[in-house]
Amino acid sequence: MNLRRIAFFIPLLGCGRRCVYCDQNAITRDAGAGGAATPGAVREVLAALDSPVELCYFGGSFARVPRARMIDFLDAVRAAPSGSVITFSSYPGDFDGAYGLETIATLKKYPIATIELGIPSMDAAILEACGRGGDSEAIKFAVKRLRDNGFHLGAQIMIGLPGQTADSAMSDVNTLASLMPEGGKWDFRLYPCLVLEGTELEAMYRRGEYRPLELGEAVRMSGKLTLEAERLGFRVIRVGLPESTSLKKSVLSGPYHPAFGELALSEKTALSLVAQKPKGPWTIEAKNISHLTGHGARGIKRVAELAGMTEKEVRSLLRVH
Ligand code: SF4
Repeated sequence: MNLRRIAFFIPLLGCGRRCVYCDQNAITRDAGAGGAATPGAVREVLAALDSPVELCYFGGSFARVPRARMIDFLDAVRAAPSGSVITFSSYPGDFDGAYGLETIATLKKYPIATIELGIPSMDAAILEACGRGGDSEAIKFAVKRLRDNGFHLGAQIMIGLPGQTADSAMSDVNTLASLMPEGGKWDFRLYPCLVLEGTELEAMYRRGEYRPLELGEAVRMSGKLTLEAERLGFRVIRVGLPESTSLKKSVLSGPYHPAFGELALSEKTALSLVAQKPKGPWTIEAKNISHLTGHGARGIKRVAELAGMTEKEVRSLLRVH
């Protein structure tokens, strides 16, 4: 059963360092349930509900929040109607060593729906350039440790990071898929890297050390990656950062678009149709036709480009049912 999600934000709580592109305050300030959450405020919201929910903690590194406070946040689920579950985002390194094992033992006492791991890249040089540290082996270790303890996982992947190429991001998606258990259907989120005001990435950008992706480039890359992620068995649950006024104000440069996810979906649909039938005719469900016709018929234009046809020809070869 898909439960209603209620997101609470704990901006930068538990983060040992600050990733160069990150400004969780800008991303989360006016999203979701509002402001930085406290366990008491979470309990209050949950106690007023009359049906179970998926309680989500995002915006920080939940499993590194000091243990007593983390438990307070976890315990808040007991105020929610029975059957409620918890999802949170964390840094893979949070599950290292003996501390990581203790954290896992604690988490097992709670109804954890999904642990979303921030895995912007698995390339050590890119992670270093992002101020994150870690490498592919450390990430694989955390993923396997959580998987083998029975947790359902989510991967938060990024594109357009300093030094990152499209091939590198594609290779990460394939590596993560190889770790997914049969029928695992891990969640998949994809975020384009944006230059936000006040971040280290802004300084790198101003010094000419970082060039963000163009919007079109990022959309094409996202369409390709999400198509591949779905083919490999992931459940794509978000592409692009949640739109908010504070985010919009903070973006200095990069592939920002309020409907980035829809643009990526149009790219994915076009790629998928042409891969199945290079010259059509193409069948699409009526409920999905906007993936082709929305945003100035971007999807139709893209099918035309990929198939080497005119837009009119593409329209004549579309079968909507
Ligand atoms: S771990 Fe996540 S929330 Fe923490 S600084 Fe890095 S990107 Fe931001």
